[in-house]
Amino acid sequence: MLRRALLAASASARVRRIVTTAPLTRDVVARFVAGDSADDALAVTRRLLDDGLLVSLDYLGEDTVDPEQAAAVADEYIRLLGRLDEAGMSGGGRAEVSVKPTAVGLDLAEHGEKTARENIARICAAGRDAGTTVTLDMEEHTRVEPTLRILGQLQPDFPDLGCVIQSYLRRSPEDCQAMAVAGSRVRLCKGAYNAAPGVAFPARAEVDRCYARCLRVLLDGPGYPMIATHDPRLIRITGVRARAARKAEDSFEYQMLYGIRPAEQLRLARGGSRVRVYVPYGSDWYGYLIRRLAERPANLAFFLRSLASRG
Ligand SMILES: Cc1cc2nc3c(=O)[nH]c(=O)nc-3n(C[C@H](O)[C@H](O)[C@H](O)COP(=O)(O)OP(=O)(O)OC[C@H]3O[C@@H](n4cnc5c(N)ncnc54)[C@H](O)[C@@H]3O)c2cc1C
Repeated sequence: MLRRALLAASASARVRRIVTTAPLTRDVVARFVAGDSADDALAVTRRLLDDGLLVSLDYLGEDTVDPEQAAAVADEYIRLLGRLDEAGMSGGGRAEVSVKPTAVGLDLAEHGEKTARENIARICAAGRDAGTTVTLDMEEHTRVEPTLRILGQLQPDFPDLGCVIQSYLRRSPEDCQAMAVAGSRVRLCKGAYNAAPGVAFPARAEVDRCYARCLRVLLDGPGYPMIATHDPRLIRITGVRARAARKAEDSFEYQMLYGIRPAEQLRLARGGSRVRVYVPYGSDWYGYLIRRLAERPANLAFFLRSLASRG
């Protein structure tokens, strides 16, 4: 309920102004975001890699409305991949990038899908040059079909282009079946957006059950599943299922967000699992922050406390 209200309120320009100008919002942002610049992102990446973790970098921004901005976002990713390569951090896919299709043009009024596809292809080519992969984030449910179309069109040239399945959507077990194939890279998450009960499960318990079902399908298949959750129960189920399916430690990975359960990230990595941390950076952090606050009352309480204590 709170989650739905917060996600809905976040669309208001007034709420956005209040949140982004509150003096202490920055402290909260720093917990979840590496910083404004690529330098900040590289420094955090270095630290995480040194700790034995893997990284996926997300240049923050979504809902891009003009082609120049869409191209500029793709250019930022391309420069970032070049710098990761120079610094020796991208080889073997140790640090990769995550891209939101709307950030590179999907929602443009004219030729949005084509623009996004071309920009993503440029990023994939830079990823390949840097010896690493690209994963397409999944956004609102209306973007699922175009995102999967782009994936299908680019995979012949870039077979390791990854995508995301969200277990809050009723369609997801079927999508998992279709994607549990050799060579696929599929990130499974619960989903950070709102959708009507016709397309999404309204109850968290159903979302969790669907997640468990999807992870079984992915772990039993020959692809490379990326299990993205902080949920201790689902992490336990993943370990049990991976052992039952005799899935080698290097044939799947856990993923968590920067700033969330860092001790658990290290525990899993030190136990021999591959663990990738999703690290956002950039100044356009509003949508990302709101989704993190909406996920967990404790995150929201942390935010409100920091506003009250020094605001
Ligand atoms: C790597 C990664 C990539 C993602 N990409 C996408 C994407 O492309 N599209 C999309 O829609 N969503 C994406 N998400 C977000 C995802 O959909 C969820 O909104 C988010 O991960 C929270 O869900 P959860 O699985 O952690 O479960 P939740 O139900 O939010 O949390 C389950 C449990 O995890 C533990 N937990 C959660 N947060 C904390 C915390 N701060 N501290 C301690 N314990 C905590 C608690 O025990 C909690 O009960 C991504 C998430 C990750 C990790």
